[in-house]
Amino acid sequence: MAALTDQAVIEQLASFRQYQHDGERVPHKPLLVLLALARLEASGSSALPWSAAETKLADLIVEFGPSSQTSRAQAAAYPFTRLRRDGVWTLSRDVPDDNVRPLREGDVTGHLTPELEAALRQRPELLRTVARRLVEAQFPMTIAPDVLSAVGLDPDLVLETAADVVDLVARRRRSAGWRERILEAWDRQCAFCGYDGQLGGVAVGIEAAHVRWFNVGGPDTDDNGMALCSLHHKLFDRGALGLDGNHRIQVSRAFSARTEAAKQVYELHDVTLQPRRGTPLPAPHHVDWHTRQVFKGVALPA
Ligand SMILES: [Zn+2]
Repeated sequence: MAALTDQAVIEQLASFRQYQHDGERVPHKPLLVLLALARLEASGSSALPWSAAETKLADLIVEFGPSSQTSRAQAAAYPFTRLRRDGVWTLSRDVPDDNVRPLREGDVTGHLTPELEAALRQRPELLRTVARRLVEAQFPMTIAPDVLSAVGLDPDLVLETAADVVDLVARRRRSAGWRERILEAWDRQCAFCGYDGQLGGVAVGIEAAHVRWFNVGGPDTDDNGMALCSLHHKLFDRGALGLDGNHRIQVSRAFSARTEAAKQVYELHDVTLQPRRGTPLPAPHHVDWHTRQVFKGVALPA
């Protein structure tokens, strides 16, 4: 068995063309690969029995994937069977794609190919490089550490690893100055709560947030961004907060809070964004994308 080079491993596991579909979020396969990498790092084997995938992988898809009508088991069966086509994943039995029953009945186990396992087992840095590239291609940085923790990888170790051992993917370039333009346009205040803290005269805890995620085709334009405080940026990227067609803030019913501090999030519901004169509101097609691809399910009643 010829050893795979670092470049070949990265190309096989983290070339993102197989993971995107016309700007729709399809994080199912990357989440499965991340889960397999975590198991490989922890135990020396990426083997994942269907019984574990049906719970753990399904949880990850529900938590970090777009809302869907598909059943949990079905959502997990899709990557568990179809990742075979990418040549990186094998199953202990030959079963049809997408079909839950044979997976359950056959007690099927999946794992990364032996060549990949061999290459990754010897090189923890390479494993982390692959993990970093996968997570950065799929999720904004507000969420990447949560995803890594949830699959069982250490976010600090993964995110400090060099992601560009070889840059195989023509990464889209961020346009210079977008962040600064957005912060300026929104007066360095959170568009949701108005927070405008400064430290030594510099805004602190205020971030430029994409409505449609940059890594899923969202442009660095004035109508695809808002200034948000760190908390509301995170809740917006996780889908706890969204916007409706009239630029009213929406709070997901999936969000729950127990303390008065956290319950203040509920108070944002149905509040209309009011940027200063001349600042464009987020464009309807970007808001639509966020509603379909990120926002968690149903909003609170008006
Ligand atoms: Zn805020």
